[in-house]
Amino acid sequence: MSFEIFGLRAELLRAVAAEGYKEPTPIQDQAIPVVLRGEDVLAGAQTGTGKTAAFALPILEMLSKTSKRTYTPRCLVLAPTRELAAQVQASFESLGRSLHLRSTVVFGGVGIQPQIDKLKKGVDILVATPGRLLDHAGRRTLDLSKVEILVLDEADRMLDMGFIHDIKKVLKLLPGKRQNLLFSATYSTEIKRFADGLLNNPKIIEV
Ligand code: AMP
Repeated sequence: MSFEIFGLRAELLRAVAAEGYKEPTPIQDQAIPVVLRGEDVLAGAQTGTGKTAAFALPILEMLSKTSKRTYTPRCLVLAPTRELAAQVQASFESLGRSLHLRSTVVFGGVGIQPQIDKLKKGVDILVATPGRLLDHAGRRTLDLSKVEILVLDEADRMLDMGFIHDIKKVLKLLPGKRQNLLFSATYSTEIKRFADGLLNNPKIIEV
């Protein structure tokens, strides 16, 4: 099995090869076609399974298909920690290197002004931790009303860390019509209840 079967554009196939990925991991095999069809996903996957590329590749493909020169994010990825957020954005950056899509990351614990300046330049894909994201939204330095795709990465950790209220506030700022992808290493009752309220007839993927 190779990456060719997904119908990804040549730029993405070249980026995949440059990363040294020879064949898709099981989560990529299952998630990429479903995400490309625009469906919601509930995926059980640990770090190390290739989950980041499983959502980044189809998102890059979809966003470059309908290229829009917007200044506000079309894809929002929420992650529990600054380390994960930075790592996810780095993956979007390297896989999307040859595409005309801009990604950026915002997280707490560092000065907000440089992030405001970056956001002002325009961004297609925004990766963020929930608290700092709300800070930006509250200052009106960020408009989330054009988000087409929402990814919750390591959703179980976000709930464990007490981000549920922040996430609910973020959800209120997003358009109702959007694609939702939820990745979680574990399935607690809390995650199930949360996913039920968020996802629309999701494809369930377990690896
Ligand atoms: P993740 O689970 O997204 O944190 O990815 C774990 C590691 O696997 C990262 O270093 C990725 O670069 C790498 N990786 C992702 N997809 C593949 C693949 N198809 N083949 C080989 N390595 C991969």
